[in-house]
Amino acid sequence: MQQWSLIFCVIVALSLVLKLYLNYRQSSAIKKHIDQVPDTFKNTVSLAEHQKAGKYNLTKLKLGQFEEIFSAAILLLFTLGGGIQLINDGLHGLNYLTQYPLTTGVAVILVFNLLNSILTLPFNIYSTFVIEQQFGFNNTTVKLFIIDIIKGLVLAAIIGIPLIYAVLWLMNMMGGMWWIWVWLLLVGFNLVIMVIYPILIAPLFNKFTPLQDQVLQDKINQLLERCGFKSRGVFVMDGSKRSSHGNAYFTGIGRAKRIVFFDTLIKQLNHDETEAVLAHELGHFKKKHIIKQMLLSFGLTLAVLYVLSLLINHPLFYTSLGVHTVATYNGLILFMLLVGVISLPFAPLFSYLSRKNEFEADSFAVAQADKNNLISGLVKLYKDNASTLTPDHVYATFYYSHPPASVRIAHLEQKCSI
Ligand SMILES: [Zn+2]
Repeated sequence: MQQWSLIFCVIVALSLVLKLYLNYRQSSAIKKHIDQVPDTFKNTVSLAEHQKAGKYNLTKLKLGQFEEIFSAAILLLFTLGGGIQLINDGLHGLNYLTQYPLTTGVAVILVFNLLNSILTLPFNIYSTFVIEQQFGFNNTTVKLFIIDIIKGLVLAAIIGIPLIYAVLWLMNMMGGMWWIWVWLLLVGFNLVIMVIYPILIAPLFNKFTPLQDQVLQDKINQLLERCGFKSRGVFVMDGSKRSSHGNAYFTGIGRAKRIVFFDTLIKQLNHDETEAVLAHELGHFKKKHIIKQMLLSFGLTLAVLYVLSLLINHPLFYTSLGVHTVATYNGLILFMLLVGVISLPFAPLFSYLSRKNEFEADSFAVAQADKNNLISGLVKLYKDNASTLTPDHVYATFYYSHPPASVRIAHLEQKCSI
């Protein structure tokens, strides 16, 4: 037992060191270039904007550093420190619960998740009300922040509790093949969420209004027609009520599909740039990135559940991670924590796949819209989001889901436009 506990500690320590090292590299790269705007952006980004973005990113990285150290400590406290065992002992002490083993399991998982959220809350508060505020990006009020948390909790309870009940029930009732049943349940659950998210869930947090600007709407309709894309409409989301960062995205599947622009994006980008950004988003759809990513994640979920099925009945798996109550719900919690740690080396692979998709979507976009509009639109978004223009290449390779600004623009510059 002690040997596996030690191995676990070493893995947690190594991954923390790796994260801190990457964080340090990124900070150094930003500091090194903070007094000079990269050549690509000389004409579009002022030195003041560049320096502000640099300082903003350095501040976020510093908080990230504390957060990584804190979450590694919390992970060890929950596992080897006996935290999860303590939750078990506390809940098993309630006579009323012990009559219902399934409910005990659900309660343990809920209390664990609740504690986890409470522990990470200070970081969210600091990030929103200190960092974002300091750099002028925050529009969230304390009241809205609290309402968001309450809505999130209610939603998690309505959706999460029945799901956890169903998963634990399947794990206990379906014998050795439970993992296939749980996988089917999770796949079905995911598909349902994808359909109801844009219609029922997202509107709880934001207002979505059909695009009012008729000139832009006509331009968009022509683009959609050119690309053979059918959707339930183009919506503008009041993202500005929380933050001044801008974005655009696709949501839903099948007939529930819709295009969403943040109001901040509509305000910053002109019609041609908005059209080009939308063409990029359509590229993701046309190149089937959304479906491919969904299939990849379903495949990974199946593999992960299978591995869990091999571990879940071994007392050593529990005791090595500081838990002596051998029960499926504890196995589930421990395994999720373990996956969080050991998946780190795979991060560069997933980032690479995501960046590959971004390049493909950009290539699609320049065949449908003017590349100069996409470039100027992207530069505006980089400015709005205060993304760093000078990331460290190792950090970017590891974490970036989108190609760094200069790489992305160089890729676009090479393309022939329509
Ligand atoms: Zn994209």
